[in-house]
Amino acid sequence: MKLNDTIVALATPAGAGAISVIRVSGPEAIKIIAPLFVAKSKKPLEDQASHTIHLGNIMNGERTLDEVLVSVFRAPRSYTGEETVEISCHGSPYIQQEIIQLLIRKGCRSAEAGEFTLRAFLNGKMDLSQAEAVADLINSENAASHQMAMQQMRGGFSNEIQKLREELLNFASLIELELDFAEEDVEFANRDQFRELVSKIQTVLKRLIDSFATGNVLKNGIPVAIVGEPNVGKSTLLNALLNEERAIVSDIAGTTRDTIEDEMSIGGVGFRFIDTAGIRDTKDVVESIGIKKTFEKISQAQVVVYLVDSSQIAVNTERLRQVRIEIEKIKNKFPLKPLLIISNKIDRLAEEEITKLKKELDLISAMNNRAQYLLLSAKSNTGVEELKEKLLEFVNTGALRNSDTIVTNSRHYAALLRALEEMNKVEEGLNHELSGDLLAIDIRQALYHFGEITGQITNDDLLGNIFANFCIGK
Ligand code: GDP
Repeated sequence: MKLNDTIVALATPAGAGAISVIRVSGPEAIKIIAPLFVAKSKKPLEDQASHTIHLGNIMNGERTLDEVLVSVFRAPRSYTGEETVEISCHGSPYIQQEIIQLLIRKGCRSAEAGEFTLRAFLNGKMDLSQAEAVADLINSENAASHQMAMQQMRGGFSNEIQKLREELLNFASLIELELDFAEEDVEFANRDQFRELVSKIQTVLKRLIDSFATGNVLKNGIPVAIVGEPNVGKSTLLNALLNEERAIVSDIAGTTRDTIEDEMSIGGVGFRFIDTAGIRDTKDVVESIGIKKTFEKISQAQVVVYLVDSSQIAVNTERLRQVRIEIEKIKNKFPLKPLLIISNKIDRLAEEEITKLKKELDLISAMNNRAQYLLLSAKSNTGVEELKEKLLEFVNTGALRNSDTIVTNSRHYAALLRALEEMNKVEEGLNHELSGDLLAIDIRQALYHFGEITGQITNDDLLGNIFANFCIGK
């Protein structure tokens, strides 16, 4: 990819809209557009200051293509760090294409995916992890993923990594300096201080590595397994949740044919509801495969919702007994997993039946480590609000609220793991009073992995991979 030419791309979505923005960045940006733009003020674009907007016409020879607003950003005070012009035109696909084609004829090149942000990175406007956060920000679909991307874009943990990297680099240089004076047996790098630094870095790395589990879940949606027999009202309940939120519904066919996931945002947090087939004890081979799958899904979920039909268990003592056994089974198998028992279809019960049912559920709860329960009617929409509150209570959103740093990117996660491995080696080396030259090797390795995150260490493949995930125009 050539980086000293001038690139153009549509920055807004393709298709018709009120307005569209065409972005041009590179050394010739202003020079190429100036002769095509006739400002109402008559002042040439080349004479305009940075961060100014101008009304005028884009001309293809004698023909006016559109009346537009042109924004001028002079290098280095632009997103890319280069000369940049943004043309806000009317949002017709025809106008967009005419202007872009005209700019290409006059010397621009079509931008590759993510090339504006790649240039921003290469020009030092942001580090690599911040550039990656730009893609996350564009893709964020709920408040949690939005907040995490914003935090990372503002520097997030890369500032922290950067600081530690510098301190470590300092020690590395001192230790390497000792090597030059090997005969004199001097110690420039104070080993006690170094030990402290190593331990501090290990703590930070561990915290960041642990945060990945939270971050990943918040970014992709918190998995909730819904366990229940056919007809207890699983689909009705999901619809009741969905209708209220008017969220984006997507059916993701999972690895198995019968896995359907519903995604929705509740209170700004993304949830993924995973339907399961229930776990009723059976001798039937096919059904027991289903049970195995249900347990698999429970193990992957963050929260388990166990759904029963109130009108069944209120009158059928055998069914109630089965429910008791099933809940116990889940609790025994997954003692730490938050479990919420939902007794659906209470609209079918009379007042005194509800009182009786509550007593039964109190008992079940007491026997299962105070598992919580909720009486609800998915059909008449009672108790659905409470269910949402409970779900939010269950998930640990504490990390978000107190704005702890959360790692969401699997590339960063991998680099942090490798850096920690190297730091553990350094610690071991210190404990065994390893010679400076050997210590220095492990320190350099750790530094390498830190650099991978912030982008001091890159290669074309890595950059290509990262920016290929961007849209064109960003
Ligand atoms: P699933 O097989 O678990 O997904 O169950 P469905 O959601 O398909 O519901 C099975 C039947 O129970 C349907 O006829 C629903 O209308 C009914 N149903 C679901 N929830 C309620 C409820 O809260 N009250 C009543 N009376 N009927 C319900």
